[in-house]
Amino acid sequence: MSDPRNGKRPRPKLAVWKLASCDGCQLSLLDCEDELLAVAGAVEIASFPEVSRAEIAGPYDVSLVEGSITTPHDLERIQEVRRQSRVLVAIGACATAGGIQALRNFADVQGLVGAVYGRPEYIRTLERSTPVSDHVPVDYELRGCPISKAQLLELVTALLAGRAPDLPTSSLCQE
Ligand code: SF4
Repeated sequence: MSDPRNGKRPRPKLAVWKLASCDGCQLSLLDCEDELLAVAGAVEIASFPEVSRAEIAGPYDVSLVEGSITTPHDLERIQEVRRQSRVLVAIGACATAGGIQALRNFADVQGLVGAVYGRPEYIRTLERSTPVSDHVPVDYELRGCPISKAQLLELVTALLAGRAPDLPTSSLCQE
């Protein structure tokens, strides 16, 4: 439906979200340079924490989620992102498998918190680091650490065009 103020169709909203992660997968998107400019012209970038703290309210057409669920706050955020997103894509090993943070899953987390932090009572953390799909339905998973920028571009372009992404099944999982 077109915008009654200018008669133009609104651009699809693309949002990037960061949970527990190193930002490397967001950097893959930034590294797309010219291709990103073309994508940016076709969409409204509603959230991209690696670029700006500004955030446009949902709902979102496509959400790319980087990072694993490691804190109660991550858990609240991913549920809200899922509520607001038509298509949710988990990007990278952290979001699809728990990432390096999941090493904690084999240790006594409270013991680690006590050993590392002087005031452990201020630390709110979950016992395990888990993938996004353990908590909310995920439409696509793009694997890798970091993800391939070419595969990310193909996925975003396909989703915005309403076609199936042309990617090897080993790198992409459609839930
Ligand atoms: Fe960083 Fe790798 Fe996690 Fe991506 S998957 S956020 S590159 S640690």
